Amino acid sequence: MSQFLHTKYASLETYTPGEQPRDKKYIKLNTNESPYPPSPQVVDALTRQEVEDLRLYSDPEGTALREKLAALYGCGPENVFLSNGSDDILNFAFMAFGQDGAVFPGLTYSFYPVFAALHGVLYDTVPLREDLSIDVDGLCGTGRLTVLANPNAPTGLALSLEEVERIVASNPDHVVVVDEAYVDFGAQSAVPLIQKYENLLVVMTYSKSRSMAGARLGFALASRPIIEDLEKLKYSTNPYNVNRLTLKLGEAAVDSDAYFRENARKIMATREKTAQALRALGFTLPDSKSNFLFVKREGLDGGLLYQKLKDRGVLIRHFSDPRIAQYNRVTVGTDEEMEAFLTQVKAIMKEEGLL
Ligand code: PMP
Repeated sequence: MSQFLHTKYASLETYTPGEQPRDKKYIKLNTNESPYPPSPQVVDALTRQEVEDLRLYSDPEGTALREKLAALYGCGPENVFLSNGSDDILNFAFMAFGQDGAVFPGLTYSFYPVFAALHGVLYDTVPLREDLSIDVDGLCGTGRLTVLANPNAPTGLALSLEEVERIVASNPDHVVVVDEAYVDFGAQSAVPLIQKYENLLVVMTYSKSRSMAGARLGFALASRPIIEDLEKLKYSTNPYNVNRLTLKLGEAAVDSDAYFRENARKIMATREKTAQALRALGFTLPDSKSNFLFVKREGLDGGLLYQKLKDRGVLIRHFSDPRIAQYNRVTVGTDEEMEAFLTQVKAIMKEEGLL
């Protein structure tokens, strides 16, 4: 740290992204990326001309992509906000709507407390229930910005639309953010509620089901006044927050919507197969509606399993938080990748005298 940094950032604890090691080729099951490439239309979307046109700024309004997303989700383009990955929107949400403080579940996306700290937003957390599900009543009527991921991370558990609506309806004077990064893997989206509740902000990403994490594209759907607030912050920080190439690729992805829905279906099928195999090996895991599994095996230390798998070329995500140190989060890859993962898990269990 330099002597020049504003004192308000001196003790900021940053978010730790999943590791992206380059030392060898891993089976990479640690950052919830899709194992499948983007659609053929996306792969072919960029012409030489598009690259030459990089000399020009991107459309700050992203009109063409917003129109396509609006048609896909049944709202107006004025209800759509585009961003450089959905983290960008979450950042704006804490910046814009956290004046009275914030509330989120005790175990959730670990970036929320970082955004809160960054913007000086005081927050409380509502512990998960014994079965790791979100305590819906605890998130109702908070009288503060309320943020939840549905499905939640890293548990993968989803709330029903009725439960999400109860939270949104109970907090009419504050924004409720529903982070739907993983919604396409089997949960119900809250998007149909944006016409009904002015305080609802639904956040989505191209990083997971649409196989475009590296393109950095996120979007939000909400009532017009909420979108206007986000636009205010965007035009006060970075008006060209989505680059030209990504806008183009994003449009091509909407045009090939069926392709990514089929991929999501494949991932869900692989998830169920893998979950069943892990349960047969004595693992316990919640019923995931996302593209990852949150797994624990009695007698097998979470950190040890992570390290031994890494030594064998399989990367999963281990969290240092002592409350979940016995767990690991495993992204669902292809059938072949998950078979390789299970083979190594069994070998490690043998080594540890558990099989
Ligand atoms: N929300 C949740 C719950 C996530 O797990 C992630 C991925 N780390 C994000 C949002 C952000 O994803 P991105 O910025 O790639 O859109």
